[in-house]
Amino acid sequence: MIFDILTIFPSMFTSPLGESMVGKARERGLIEVRVHNIRDFASGRHQMTDDRPFGGGEGMVMKPEPIVGALRAIAANGPTAATILMTPQGRLFNQETARRLSRLPRLILICGRYEGVDERVADYFTDDQLSIGDYVLTGGELAAMVVVDAVARLLPGVLGNEGSALEDSFSEPVLEYPHYTRPRDFEGLSVPPVLLCGNHETIRRWRRTQALLRTRMRRPDLFERLELSPEDRELLEEGKN
Ligand code: SAM
Repeated sequence: MIFDILTIFPSMFTSPLGESMVGKARERGLIEVRVHNIRDFASGRHQMTDDRPFGGGEGMVMKPEPIVGALRAIAANGPTAATILMTPQGRLFNQETARRLSRLPRLILICGRYEGVDERVADYFTDDQLSIGDYVLTGGELAAMVVVDAVARLLPGVLGNEGSALEDSFSEPVLEYPHYTRPRDFEGLSVPPVLLCGNHETIRRWRRTQALLRTRMRRPDLFERLELSPEDRELLEEGKN
């Protein structure tokens, strides 16, 4: 899968997308991340990428020409892509969207700055607008990195253990069960004994119970959407005791 990122701060991506799983996936050719400097597509001696807002007011707005110029130049170079603007006003990004995007051959992510991007870019040159949460960042770069990371780890071969993406929180609307590792006793805090019993079925049932209980407690909104199986109901009933 190809990720094209449009930004005025390309160097921000060097380390975050060069390390760990994403870095390895790039090395192995499973994903390609192309970072494009919007400024390269700006005209004039100063290559301005922003200007004052029509109607007055605080801050600067990113101009449409350099962004659309970049989109046109890179569109010609590779398979058809979905173009997404990162904005706090977009649809909330979640695991379901990550899964949907992971089926595409190519994704173009536009990172805004300042007061944001001229609205005509959003209206006429993008397929979708995504927000990573109900807060405002200084720029879309961190948001784009979140999308690349969440989408890339769903692609075949990127995670060493394919099963772990399936068990993650949100694979269904339920949070994942708690994890423990060595030491067995840490400063007097011991691992739940059930995890040491060696019985896979007992452990599976315990983990499912924990996942259901913590989803109900921490994310009642998700729990409401969950279709409980007969076994889930039984486990919750047992979990009361
Ligand atoms: N004035 C804009 C508003 O109130 O909607 C906020 C602009 S923000 C300071 C600058 C840029 O950061 C945005 O254009 C967007 O690309 C990015 N950004 C900020 N918060 C974001 C979020 N929660 N999700 C995705 N992108 C975000």
